[in-house]
Amino acid sequence: MIRTRFAPSPTGPLHLGHAYSAIIAHDFAKASGGEFIVRIEDLDQSRVRKKWDSQIFEDLEWLGLSWARPIMRQSERAEAYSNAIDKLYYNQVIYPCYCTRRDISEAIAAPQGGSLILQNPDGIIYPGTCRHKTKTNTRPKDQALRLDVAAAMVAHDLNDLKFIEIVAPGHSKTININKNSNLTDIIGDIVITRRDMAPAYHLAVVIDDMEQNITHVVRGEDLRPSTSIHVVLQRLLGLTTPFYIHHPLINDENGKRLAKRNDAKSISTFRSQGASPLDIRHMIGL
Ligand SMILES: [Zn+2]
Repeated sequence: MIRTRFAPSPTGPLHLGHAYSAIIAHDFAKASGGEFIVRIEDLDQSRVRKKWDSQIFEDLEWLGLSWARPIMRQSERAEAYSNAIDKLYYNQVIYPCYCTRRDISEAIAAPQGGSLILQNPDGIIYPGTCRHKTKTNTRPKDQALRLDVAAAMVAHDLNDLKFIEIVAPGHSKTININKNSNLTDIIGDIVITRRDMAPAYHLAVVIDDMEQNITHVVRGEDLRPSTSIHVVLQRLLGLTTPFYIHHPLINDENGKRLAKRNDAKSISTFRSQGASPLDIRHMIGL
């Protein structure tokens, strides 16, 4: 059975871009008698507001969407994330990193024989300063942890990574992640947990998708580069890779991507102006 999800963060109102993503995921599952779920991505508790949490469900219901319960909230899943991090630590594919932002930029600025500064979806690829420092037997609880992608490649045979992307109804293509490029250059040693012990989004999302048996991950094309990271983490944790659908992003009339903070384009604003759910669908070309 097809299961899709919509996973908003309650840090602002739902806007047209959210509605687009939610409707596509919802309709895709329902068209085949599948299930649609809503997951609340509230790892960053400093930015989460209760009012947005309730507004999300009110707007989705108004749009005519229905979802399976119970609702999963990432803020309640610390144990699941911690177990996964333990597994990675004891498999020796993550290591503590003691660097500050400044340490990292200084290491990158140091002469490296003219080598390029490489980027991953999170920003500049970490130069590996802490990779070879002595590791403790027990997982440190107060340090950022990073993936040792080179060690992971050797230990888990990550030489031929791919995922299947559905590009149109009935059409899919296989995306080769590292056929022509090296994982150390496209992903690098990404952060797995921050110093405050909050798991990285990349880790939380693959664990949650597995826990909720998501068969098709529907999300914006801005997240396509992150899918490579997610496939690596799925392999390291022994999880199945779902199918992916990366939809185009909704832009405003000037061609600019709708920012989350743009309250003028929020669903609740359109509602208060008298728009119907069908009007919203038309505005976003659905
Ligand atoms: Zn470091």
